[in-house]
Amino acid sequence: MRKLELHWQILIGMILGVVAGLLFSRLGLEGFVKDWIKPFGTIFINLLKLIAIPLILVSLIKGISDLHDISKFRIMGIRTFAMYVFTTVLAVSVGLVIVNIIQPGSYVSPGTVAEISETYGTSVQSKIQSAETVRQGPLQFLVDMVPDNIVGAASNNGNMLKVIFFSVFFGISLLLVDKNLAKPVNDFFTGLNEVIMKMVDLIMLGAPYAVFALLCALITETTNPDLFVALLWYVLAVISGLLIMLILYSLFLYFYASKSPAEFFRAMAPAQLLAFSTSSSAATLPVTMERVEEHLGVEKEVTSFVCPLGATINMDGTSLYQAVAAVFICEAMLFDLSFSDQLTIILTATLASIGSAAVPGAGLIMLVIVLESVGLPADKMAIGLALIFAVDRPLDMMRTVINVTGDGMVAYIVGKSLGKVGPPKVKNWDDNYHPENAG
Ligand code: ASP
Repeated sequence: MRKLELHWQILIGMILGVVAGLLFSRLGLEGFVKDWIKPFGTIFINLLKLIAIPLILVSLIKGISDLHDISKFRIMGIRTFAMYVFTTVLAVSVGLVIVNIIQPGSYVSPGTVAEISETYGTSVQSKIQSAETVRQGPLQFLVDMVPDNIVGAASNNGNMLKVIFFSVFFGISLLLVDKNLAKPVNDFFTGLNEVIMKMVDLIMLGAPYAVFALLCALITETTNPDLFVALLWYVLAVISGLLIMLILYSLFLYFYASKSPAEFFRAMAPAQLLAFSTSSSAATLPVTMERVEEHLGVEKEVTSFVCPLGATINMDGTSLYQAVAAVFICEAMLFDLSFSDQLTIILTATLASIGSAAVPGAGLIMLVIVLESVGLPADKMAIGLALIFAVDRPLDMMRTVINVTGDGMVAYIVGKSLGKVGPPKVKNWDDNYHPENAG
């Protein structure tokens, strides 16, 4: 019998997780879920994070050392960066248009504002403080990219840019070394890369069970669903913006890469579902790379550069959300925004999304910077953040899906533009495994 495809398995796991979560909450068994179910979700996320740094390091070194022409790397870098900036600015603009049409802030009553700010006021203080610590000089991002110690850099998953820098540097140097001397090093990385990709496949076998655990735990931890209704228009504004991004991605794929959007989404579905379940593009990265390379057929030198870079700096969902949330908060706080304030939001939300870490809730922290840029007073900001705090997690899950999808889309289009997309390379143990595909 043909096995159910991975994305269906994951989807079933998610649905069962939600149902079980509701059931356990009803039965008052939240403690049981926390002690006996949630740990399996955490273990799975740990496994994905565990593999992320070795995967970037090895696949990027291998990818670059496979390049025959180093000038291609420069073209790839420029195109990738240009597309990332373009899609991010586009996402912020879509967010602004939607929020100005829907005007969700005008539906929030002063009573709701008072009630929510009382409940969540203290929780957001720490977020505001976290944002204060990330404010730095204009060139700090360049300084942050260059590690002073590779072991130190590789010891923290938040240091992806540093690891990317080292891998590119190493890969280019390897290309410049005499072929005979480089050969054993190349062979080593080729073999190591296969092993690590296999580890990703093996980890993914646990995905359907892990998403069950993650969603079950999330549902039992969820607070007051009534807040959703109070903030319905805000939630709708964010969701419609995110859906528009999916439509735009489909158009780009179709017109710029002659790729059927349905095929693209089918290949990316497990990564998207995982992004939804984990709310972290960093944790999803190994799966994103595996899907883009093996299921979309984008060659390694493109995947291994574009995807990790995207997980770190390209967050279309987050930037769109920041634009909508910023205008929503200002509206609900009766703080007028001029046209030039909205232009400021385009700039700061773009930068804030680049600076957001690829972990749950990071977008909310960086929103502080967007709100400060338009001059919202601190007391109003605290209330405004408290207002959206309660519904942040589900929106985070959705924006992370867009973040990951955007990375895959750019990888495909850049790969296609460089003639580096071939047939899919699905392997043994992979979710679509059939004996005839075994490699
Ligand atoms: N959770 C998002 C991500 O990892 C970032 C955010 O918007 O909070 O991509």
